[in-house]
Amino acid sequence: LLAADGSIASTIFAEMSALATASGAINLGQGFPDEDGPIEVLDAARAAIAEGVNQYPPGMGMPVLREAIARHQRRWYGIEVDAASEVLVTAGATEALAATILALVDDGDEVVTFEPSYDAYAALIARAGGVHRTVPLAFPDWRPDPDDLERVVGPRTRLIIVNTPHNPTGAVFDARTLAHLVRLAERHDAVIVTDEVYEHLVFEGRHTPIATLPGARERTVTISSGGKTFSTTGWKVGWLVAPAPLVTAILAVKQYLTYVNGAPFQPAIALGLDLPDAVFADAAAALATKRDVLAAGLTAAGFEISIPSAGYFIVADAAPLGFDDAAEFCRRLPHLAGVVGVPVSAFVHPDRRAATRSLVRFAFCKRLDVLQEASARLAMLG
Ligand code: PMP
Ligand code: GLN
Repeated sequence: LLAADGSIASTIFAEMSALATASGAINLGQGFPDEDGPIEVLDAARAAIAEGVNQYPPGMGMPVLREAIARHQRRWYGIEVDAASEVLVTAGATEALAATILALVDDGDEVVTFEPSYDAYAALIARAGGVHRTVPLAFPDWRPDPDDLERVVGPRTRLIIVNTPHNPTGAVFDARTLAHLVRLAERHDAVIVTDEVYEHLVFEGRHTPIATLPGARERTVTISSGGKTFSTTGWKVGWLVAPAPLVTAILAVKQYLTYVNGAPFQPAIALGLDLPDAVFADAAAALATKRDVLAAGLTAAGFEISIPSAGYFIVADAAPLGFDDAAEFCRRLPHLAGVVGVPVSAFVHPDRRAATRSLVRFAFCKRLDVLQEASARLAMLG
């Protein structure tokens, strides 16, 4: 995390957004939508502010939101949750991850993630003094090898961090992989932490929370957020669902991170979670169209791509265009083509970057005209 001169390095997302702003390039780097989500959700926040919902909410989150989260888990997944003891509202999924990892990982405990993985995991594991072990996922199908799972998960494993649908690849883990992970967690008495922030942005089929698998619920911390589902990434309303003793342990850390956040946004996200199925389905369908537009654009430009089943991102290989080093390519891309992407190496430990060296992540959670313009610009690379 520390740069060579001892300063704290910024995240790749902040760095690439700054590059986009400075160069005027189209920002397909950091994953945030450029259009607002459901108007009902926005209106509910405005109304809450007007009604005076502007002071500290309760430490575990407002009951109206915790109850909506419990209803959401029942309605979509058939999971029964006690809103009073098994749901914790957090400052985005990020705080849920931070509090969970800091609460459950002691010095020397092993924590397993897939790789590439969302950058916060490695940083938080290091901060907690954990030993980070990884299971590789390979372009373009990103399917973990069961033998790797057996090799990496062991008696010293404290946490297994799963992220499905997955950032940066857009992969959805299949039922067999999820069941294997649960068996390994049971065998080694590990806790499963599952980051499901893209749960409603699935293009084919439905999302399967790992907590719905036999034996999983009692050892699983499920993390999600309103940011992706309702296009409100700046509101930072997230949550976790877990057995009460785990929630108590995580709350002990969370109360000194932010204590609480986002009072007027909590009832607004609660209202969003109760919106009809069609609102969720329409948002996923609109995003699938955007995926198709960017996938076509990248392919026409000469990239080799993996087609994501979910989420905000497409991973593209720049090697066929003659660029072997994606970090270097991403630094030059704003000037070469007026587009910003993120090198997949940012999601991989520096010692293991060879396999992902030429891969770039592009976000497609943008307006169709923006994606079309980006595609036209990328076509100039060839
Ligand atoms: N997990 C994953 C996989 C993400 O992609 C993101 C950010 N988009 C987060 C967690 C953080 O979510 P939040 O903005 O709710 O903190
Ligand atoms: N999750 C978003 C992404 O993957 C960005 C979050 C951030 O900027 N930390 O691009």
